[in-house]
This record gives sequence, C-alpha cells and structure tokens, in this order.
Amino acid sequence: MAKPEPDLMERVVSLCKRRGFVFQSSEIYGGINSCYDYGPLGAELKRNVKDAWWQAMVVRRDDIVGLDSAIIQHPEVWRSSGHVAGFSDLLVDCRRCKGRFREDHLDAIPCPDREFKGRVARVCQQEGLHTEPRAFNLMFETHAGPVKDSASIVYLRPETAQGIFTNFLNVVNSSRMAPPFGVAQIGKSFRNEITPGNFVFRTREFEQMEMEFFVPPADEDRWYEYWVEQRFRWYVDNGVRPDRLRKRPHAEDELAHYSSGCTDVEYLYPFGWGELEGIAKRGSYDLTAHAKGCGKDLSFFDEATKQRYVPHVVEPAAGCDRAAMTFLVDAYDEETVTDEGGKSEVRTVLHFHPRIAPITVAIFPLVKKAGMPERAKEIQATLMDAGLRTFFDEKGAIGRRYRRQDEVGTPYCVTIDGDTVERDGTVTVRDRDSMAQDRVQPAELVAFIRDKMKAWRRG
Ligand code: ATP
Repeated sequence: MAKPEPDLMERVVSLCKRRGFVFQSSEIYGGINSCYDYGPLGAELKRNVKDAWWQAMVVRRDDIVGLDSAIIQHPEVWRSSGHVAGFSDLLVDCRRCKGRFREDHLDAIPCPDREFKGRVARVCQQEGLHTEPRAFNLMFETHAGPVKDSASIVYLRPETAQGIFTNFLNVVNSSRMAPPFGVAQIGKSFRNEITPGNFVFRTREFEQMEMEFFVPPADEDRWYEYWVEQRFRWYVDNGVRPDRLRKRPHAEDELAHYSSGCTDVEYLYPFGWGELEGIAKRGSYDLTAHAKGCGKDLSFFDEATKQRYVPHVVEPAAGCDRAAMTFLVDAYDEETVTDEGGKSEVRTVLHFHPRIAPITVAIFPLVKKAGMPERAKEIQATLMDAGLRTFFDEKGAIGRRYRRQDEVGTPYCVTIDGDTVERDGTVTVRDRDSMAQDRVQPAELVAFIRDKMKAWRRG
C-alpha cells in the first residue's frame, strides 16, 4: 500500500525552482503569497498537460466540441448560477494568533502559534479560541469601466463551466450537436481562497480543464459511470502510478443540493490524499437556473422522439495546475546507479510520460569539434521539423549532460560522436528510464523516437 512521503514536497519544490519549472511570482519584489509563475520548463509541462487533455476530450472524439469563453461575464450569470449567494466557504478567526482559516480545513492546518507547535487548528477551535464560522464569498470582484459603483461590479469567473452553460444554445444552433454531446473548455479561474497552500495545489489564480456533457435525463447515471472511469484512466494513461490514485465517491452530506452524485479522483500527495478532479452529476440545475434568469428557453427538442427536455449534465472538472503538480510529484525519483567502473551515485530523475515531458529529445555533440556540433544542429532541425521539443547542450562531460536531462525528465538523449561524422553516420539514442543506448541512422530517428513514445510504460 502506497504511503505519503512528507519530505518529498520540499525536494520537488526545490527542483522546480532550480530548474525553471515554477517560480514564486513577483520574486524580485519579495514575492506574493501563494502566487506562482511557470518558468521555461513549467510552461512546456503545462502546455503538454493541456494538449493531452484536449486530445483526449476533443480531438479524438466526435461528440465533444471546444469553447473559449470570457473571464468577465454578465454579473447576472453569477446570480442565476447561485455563486453570488452561495459560492462561499466557512471562515473562522483565531482570537489568539489572529490567523484566519477555512473551517473545513482545520484538521489539516497546523496552528501557526509557536507555543502550540505540532498541533492542528481544530484543537484551538475545540478550546474555544475561534470565532463562530461565517460565510466568505470566494469570488473576486472588480469594476468594469471608469465608474466604481455597485452598477459596475463584475466578477472574475470562479469556474469555466458557466461560460459553457450560457453558450448552450449558441453551440447547439451553430454546430448542430445533439445530446449526448459535450462542450470542453480550458482557461483561468479565480477564487479568493481563505487558505491557499501546498505549492500550486491551491492558489487564487489557476487554470481549469472542464467539460459539460449534456445527456437525456434517463441516461445521466450511465454517462456518470462512464466519465468517472474515463477520467481515472486519463491520469494512468499519462503515466501516473495507479496505486497512488483512487476514486472517492462523495457522501450524501458532501453533495451540492442539486447534485445526485460526485466522485473525486484523488492522488496520494506528500501531504496526504487530495482532490485532483471531480466528476459530478449536475442534473438540469444549471440550464434551468439560466433559463429562469435570462427568460429564454434552454431546452432541447429531439427530432427523433419529438420530445422536448432540459438535458442533464455530467461534469468532469480538473485543475491544470494540480494535474501538472501531480505529474511532477509522481514522476520524481532518486535512484542509486552504478557505472561500469563500480562507482555509485544518486541520480534525480523525473519519469514523465514522454507526452508530458517538457523536452522530448536532448541533442549532444560529444565534443565541440570535428564537425560534431554542425551535424548535431542539422539533426536537431529535423527533429524540430517533426514537431518534437528539443534541447541542444554541448557543455560538460557527457555523463553530466545526461544527469541534467534526467533531472528534468527528458526521455531521450541523442549523441553525435566520431562514428556519426566519420564512420557509419549513426547516432546514439539513450533512454532516460533504462539508460540503455541504441545506435540509429538519423533518417530513422524521428520514427524510432515516435515508436518509443508510443510503447512507453511506467517501469
Ligand atoms: P476544493 O474543495 O478543494 O476547494 P472544489 O471541489 O471546490 O475544490 P471544483 O470546484 O470541483 O473544486 O474545481 C474543479 C477542479 O479545479 C479541482 O478538482 C481542482 O483540480 C481545481 N481547483 C479548484 N480550486 C483550485 C485552487 N484554488 N487552486 C488550484 N486548483 C483548483
């Protein structure tokens, strides 16, 4: 049975900063709490996560279309959806340490008071140190236009889903989709979280990958089961170890009032099990609420059965930043390796799925002479033309170059050596996970790498 590894998080965070995955935002000004910037490798990692999701959810299906809706929407959207009245968490203040905490997180939050080192904030609540819980709305408010009054209040969207519901008619009328069909969207969401933390797991600005799947009411259960399985598989197919994942169906008292079922895909993070994605049955709640709010009919007329109905919705809602962090944490390993001379060393390696890895192929001329750098550049250009993300490195001993790429999870390193320029033209392809090397003709390199990517399995 897999166990959490509390000190792993620190090592991953340190690697992220050292190698340019994630930086503290506005660091040169001292940073801003719980805001992060993605560096050169982090930007590639996130792009690959989003591409893998879009491929699985849109490109490889003919029953789902994409959407890219605005972050700022009509304020009525958030009144109809229930967010203005109810998108809140319970907040408590500690009279002693002056801390402010989310009530349902008290069991996991360490008390910040040094005197109470090692105890969780729930104990302070039990000792009567906290105020009564009160609702705190998580939506960020701002004003549209030059006048700052109550009429100009707008919200930064706290989820991408509502932009899909408000475009339901537009999509049906313009793309002629009919239930069962889905609309998928990736984009930024904003929540004024009371207690952000655990690196990019919970931040106030984050990216979501959400899909609303509209179905005839009688088919909701069947599609719910289907999407729970599909979404669990997506993480495994992209390299996450299945023994670190679980499906957790929500208990009755956890469900939103309109939902008849929700299952979280959870991952065993270094700090314990946490939600990676939620798959929910939303019934006809959203379309009915918007129909009431805007006064338009948001039902669907089925030509085949001559019946009109409001579709029910199954929603898989994932976080891009949480997924990226999960791929990082899950891929991280420190392995002891022994070279041919019997010398042992520890190598840090990220066992990313090649689809998720920020760099796919590193190119190394063995030495900076004898035509090797020039030949290496030519080979790199071929790989670039094939759409592979490459990295050129001619500095330092070859072993060190391999280690640098292992540490950022590059699955393949191609070395151009004396044989390449003087003998048979072949290059070596070194595999990150097995460290085995093959000699390959440059003309066959792209196909060789693509085959390896397809056949990749987590060891
Ligand atoms: P929680 O209970 O953890 O606050 P939630 O159940 O409200 O989360 P959803 O509204 O279901 O979350 O959002 C869908 C997904 O969006 C989550 O599974 C998560 O991956 C991501 N997400 C939600 N809030 C945040 C956040 N503050 N920071 C990063 N990702 C988030």
